[in-house]
Amino acid sequence: MSRPVDSVIEAARAFLGERITTNAALREHHSHGQDTQTPVLPDAVAFVETTEEASQLLRLCHEAHVPVVPFGGGTSLEGHVTPVRGGITVDVSRMTAIMQVSQADMDCRIEAGVTREQLNTHLRDVGLFFPVDPGTSACTIGGMCATRASGTNAVRYGTIRENVMGLTVVLADGRVIRTGGRVRKSSTGYDLTRLFIGSEGTLGLITEVQLRLHGIPEAMSAATCQFPTLRDAVETVIAILQVGIPVARMELLDEVQMAACIAYSKLEGLTATPTLFFEFHGTEAAVQEQAQLAEAIAVDNAAQGFRWATDAAERGKLWQARHDAYWACLALKPGHKGIATDAIVPISRLDEAILGAKQDIEASGLTAPIVGHVGDGNFHTVILVPPEPDGLARAWELDKKIVARALALGGSCSGEHGVGIGKREFLEQEHGPEALAVMRSVKQALDPRGVLNPGKIFLN
Ligand SMILES: Cc1cc2nc3c(=O)[nH]c(=O)nc-3n(C[C@H](O)[C@H](O)[C@H](O)COP(=O)(O)OP(=O)(O)OC[C@H]3O[C@@H](n4cnc5c(N)ncnc54)[C@H](O)[C@@H]3O)c2cc1C
Repeated sequence: MSRPVDSVIEAARAFLGERITTNAALREHHSHGQDTQTPVLPDAVAFVETTEEASQLLRLCHEAHVPVVPFGGGTSLEGHVTPVRGGITVDVSRMTAIMQVSQADMDCRIEAGVTREQLNTHLRDVGLFFPVDPGTSACTIGGMCATRASGTNAVRYGTIRENVMGLTVVLADGRVIRTGGRVRKSSTGYDLTRLFIGSEGTLGLITEVQLRLHGIPEAMSAATCQFPTLRDAVETVIAILQVGIPVARMELLDEVQMAACIAYSKLEGLTATPTLFFEFHGTEAAVQEQAQLAEAIAVDNAAQGFRWATDAAERGKLWQARHDAYWACLALKPGHKGIATDAIVPISRLDEAILGAKQDIEASGLTAPIVGHVGDGNFHTVILVPPEPDGLARAWELDKKIVARALALGGSCSGEHGVGIGKREFLEQEHGPEALAVMRSVKQALDPRGVLNPGKIFLN
């Protein structure tokens, strides 16, 4: 007897042709993200190229009660794209049109499969840029919206949430809505745009995004600054933020992460001690003033001087090393997988959170470099999972300890990676049962048949 999913695949062939496929290699590629959850094969993968195709496909799946898993670049870290109940994975990575760019309004409208590098290459000649920069260039802007992503620039330019003005979304039953618009503010109705930002493919499939853009700053300069202890580095961060210096980027790497980056990215002139990477944006005079103030605070906290990277090539090398930090960690112990923790706390509690995490790592006996967007109070440890039978359990135990401390300090279990499968168990503690019940009601209202990315965000 034919299964409902087979009927959907057959019906969808009428408008997708070969772009809906049961090819084994493509199903395997779509069975996991960059995570340690158990992969599950989707029954088929569909590569949609228009909102209309996505709408037709979702309508078919809705009618047949077939699960749908939206898929962008597949770079998420918490099992977000694993099709735990099978069904059809809808891949939007071929939707790469940049439909409109307005220099005057500093905004653009793009399809959801565009990556930030594609967009920034397109924008280069108009003097604008899109600042949200997760540590991998393979993610799509639709996926970034769905995970409420951020990156090294968030301390100055905000996360994806602050940079999305509107969306086109295909709902579970195939209806298409446009949310938000092109104005900088509006006080009409519920903020549906923000509802879909961070919804992890559980409320709708995003096909188009209206983005806010920024002017390329007149001047930029980057610097590194090394410290004898992690505490000195963290206290420098807190002081810089409390004084209100508008740093564009401020990233912390502990001595283990520095050793990894020096080896992986061939960084010269730096030692394996706790280090801050800075970037300052603005006019020539503003950049100079910000940098001098930051340097004075760092020196007060035992910093061993600033090392400037003023030309674009040197700056690029530094930030590429930061973006490659995850791969540098994995290269420390070939054959080990990595679990990236993502705790975030209020700035004033950052020292307790990071120094406590350091103690937990040491007590665990595991290798877990610390690297973080500390300007936002957010830091990661990449826990290297030993290839022994109890390796994964030990790594998860360490992750739980770091999360527990962040929650106790008034923080969150995830600053930017999202919930997926891996962080579901912490949601009730973080938000409380009533707030979680409201989230469930929203899900029920928009996806009453539970077809959109089932098994994510909520435990059951
Ligand atoms: C090396 C490395 C570094 C990273 N660094 C960062 C970082 O600095 N900051 C950060 O925030 N994240 C980071 N990440 C995590 C990841 O890149 C982000 O979560 C990213 O936003 C995922 O985008 P994606 O296109 O790969 O989405 P996917 O992994 O394909 O999907 C992620 C989730 O979004 C849903 N989804 C995808 N596309 C759509 C759509 N069009 N409509 C609706 N739902 C959709 C999926 O169903 C899934 O739930 C990193 C990952 C790696 C591997």
